[in-house]
Amino acid sequence: MSWIQTLNKLLSDNESAGVTKMHCPRCSVKLHEVGMGATSKVKLDVCPRCHGLWLDKGELDRMDESIWANVEEHPFHVSEDDHKQTSCPKCTIDLNPVSPADFGDVIVDRCPTCEGFWLDHGELDRMRDVATAIDSGTSAPSGDQKPAGWSDLRWRIYLLKWNRD
Ligand SMILES: [Zn+2]
Ligand SMILES: [Zn+2]
Repeated sequence: MSWIQTLNKLLSDNESAGVTKMHCPRCSVKLHEVGMGATSKVKLDVCPRCHGLWLDKGELDRMDESIWANVEEHPFHVSEDDHKQTSCPKCTIDLNPVSPADFGDVIVDRCPTCEGFWLDHGELDRMRDVATAIDSGTSAPSGDQKPAGWSDLRWRIYLLKWNRD
């Protein structure tokens, strides 16, 4: 079952299933917790309206590539009209717009307290594009060795793309 099928099933089967106490920093509606993967051991917090993603600190480390392949199948969208409030769904303090290490001009919103981050529509795709692009002067990764100078985040996202293809 694809990511969007899983999400739609959860949302349609039971209105209250998986609803969290956290609110979308864009839409202010409550985020839904969606179990990912065969065992659903990984939980993603997703906005049912704009389909933005909240990632707790370290959450990427618990995911596998099949999960992200499914995420990418989903046609993300967000309304520009909803960019009004940007606070951490957990801590309710302001999120900081940040550009993850070696992700160029990709900007995500990160909580300075809990260190989770919010991905709007398209931000994951842009991160993947950057992660799979080879810098001039940097050799292409070979095998399972992280190239020198790459951040853990870039390497992980690169691996996801690698495995998907
Ligand atoms: Zn939203
Ligand atoms: Zn926070």
